[in-house]
Amino acid sequence: MKPILALNAFDMNDAAELGGALEERVRQRAKLFGAASVLFYDRPLEFVRGEGCWLYDADGVAYLDAYNNVPSVGHCHPHVVEAATRQMGKLNIHNRYLHQGIIDYAERLLATLPAPLSNVTFTCTGSESNDLALRLASNFTGGEGIVVTEAAYHGNTALVTESSPASYKHGAPPRRVRVVPAPDSYRVPQERLSDTFAGHVAAAIEDLKRNGIRFSALAVDSIFSSDGVFADPPGFLRTAIDVVHRANGLFIADEVQPGFGRTGASLWGFQRHGLQPDIVTLGKPMGNGYPIGAVVMRPEILDAFCERYGYFNTYAGSPVAAAVGHAVLDVIEREKLMENAMRVGEYLKQRLTDMSARHPEIGDVRGAGLYIGVELLRRGDGSPAPERAATIINKLRDRRVLIGAAGRFGSVLKIRPPLCFSAVHADHLIAVLDDVLTEA
Ligand code: PMP
Repeated sequence: MKPILALNAFDMNDAAELGGALEERVRQRAKLFGAASVLFYDRPLEFVRGEGCWLYDADGVAYLDAYNNVPSVGHCHPHVVEAATRQMGKLNIHNRYLHQGIIDYAERLLATLPAPLSNVTFTCTGSESNDLALRLASNFTGGEGIVVTEAAYHGNTALVTESSPASYKHGAPPRRVRVVPAPDSYRVPQERLSDTFAGHVAAAIEDLKRNGIRFSALAVDSIFSSDGVFADPPGFLRTAIDVVHRANGLFIADEVQPGFGRTGASLWGFQRHGLQPDIVTLGKPMGNGYPIGAVVMRPEILDAFCERYGYFNTYAGSPVAAAVGHAVLDVIEREKLMENAMRVGEYLKQRLTDMSARHPEIGDVRGAGLYIGVELLRRGDGSPAPERAATIINKLRDRRVLIGAAGRFGSVLKIRPPLCFSAVHADHLIAVLDDVLTEA
């Protein structure tokens, strides 16, 4: 499996080929950031400005952003920027004082989630949300066994890294973390997908038990983004969640990727499966670039945790975080971004599917709303084609269109633009991709 940070990453061994100012800048950064420095693309990019679905370099050259889901309502959206700066100039303080802004935001956010999930704890990142969720689940169930999918990424704390197989360059998660195959709708027939996935989850729970490890939770990203984007058929997750509940475990829905309207039909990815999670974790698109996250859960789960521990997060749930959170929801509603994600996502998927008839190396086009995966195959044996994916991503970059890679092998093109992506943007992406695929 390819570690997630190795996907589409610049190789420092190629620095000399860059030459000039770019080489100098890349080397300077590598020297400062050391081994942890990761840059995208064979020729790293430097931007100075963003607006809507576009990123601009210092020469004013525009790149179409079909990759970034953090600026979900559009880069530097004026309504969000205005809300943040206005509140920043008035009051920004931790949340151990009353502030109506965060109360109102909590009410507004909870109203979008199933009623039993009626408590929220604010965080600053998706990693912090998942870290707290895993602790809540473990405390509530008395177990420490976690089940995740094989190329899952849930964040960067010690606990969450151990539950993120995609973070490992060598070795694997500890024994209390069980890894199951992703619900690969391309390789498993759709009518068997639900039972197959549930069977893997049941076997993992059974194996934990056999090894004397009590089961705590199944944590999944409901669009399976790092696993390669699996959205269909809607509802396929339900059988696995029944298995989890029968084993007295909790279901943690990681909404860091699909949340806030990306999948089009609903605000939350788990709703595509008609599910009610026990814990929901939020992050990235929640603040359109401002670091805000949340954990939403049934009160008894939080009550049990708070009997043993306190939870305080200095920057979480501040007045600025609340103002930004409100502003993001305003834009999603006012600009009808869910409807846009649905309409443009379907259009883009259809155009990609049409294109696959001309390009047999496209094995599958899938996804929901503006989260689309394009599976690439080797021409000879039909096996996954990660090198080809890397070539295409870099050629698109050279033509100023930005996408990324996903999947166990890195062979899936990941198309995940800001939600203001229009049919005109989609046509541009299709035209450039068609050219790139047609070249040798
Ligand atoms: N969950 C998922 C599904 C993610 O994709 C990510 C980040 N890529 C995280 C959690 C962690 O979020 P953050 O990097 O903001 O901590």
